[in-house]
Amino acid sequence: MNFNVATVVGIYKAIKYNLPVVKRNFTLTGDGIKLPQNFRVRVGTPVTELIDLCGGYTDPDVDKVFIMGGPMMGASLVRDDAIVTKTCTSVIILNHMPQREEPCVRCASCVYSCPVGLQPVAIMNAYKAGDVDAIKGLNAKRCIECGLCSYSCTSKIPVTEFMRKAKRMIK
Ligand code: SF4
Ligand code: SF4
Repeated sequence: MNFNVATVVGIYKAIKYNLPVVKRNFTLTGDGIKLPQNFRVRVGTPVTELIDLCGGYTDPDVDKVFIMGGPMMGASLVRDDAIVTKTCTSVIILNHMPQREEPCVRCASCVYSCPVGLQPVAIMNAYKAGDVDAIKGLNAKRCIECGLCSYSCTSKIPVTEFMRKAKRMIK
């Protein structure tokens, strides 16, 4: 198992000094804000406060995309009213560029790109059909939510979102 530096420091402080994690390094980045930067902030700080410290939004009239976490494994947020948590490292804020989702063309690009050997398109179809047994049989729980199936999809389908939903369905 691998730990990042912040986790190791957190473990050290907890064991040595009995201190909980109350602060963390946090990155706000993306073309949707004026001055992307790193912060050292208290857990519980509203992300909107950090956006203000970054000079606010670029192009306020353009819709924004919020991603909590990294660009590949992060989860999308509906609004900017999130708070800094112990486990989150960053929020990416992007200006929304509409992409038209097309029907699946069964190109298998998502299958070839999956690092754990899953069949994302099949899991997505099983989820849409509500077929819990098929989702389990296709080993959806092994998905690490890396985002590569969405990234590689030729039809711009948010395949990873379907993986998350399928995993929730079989929980
Ligand atoms: S998100 Fe899951 S299904 Fe998609 S490529 Fe990554 S591991 Fe495979
Ligand atoms: S990459 Fe997209 S279009 Fe191709 S099979 Fe997978 S879901 Fe369908």
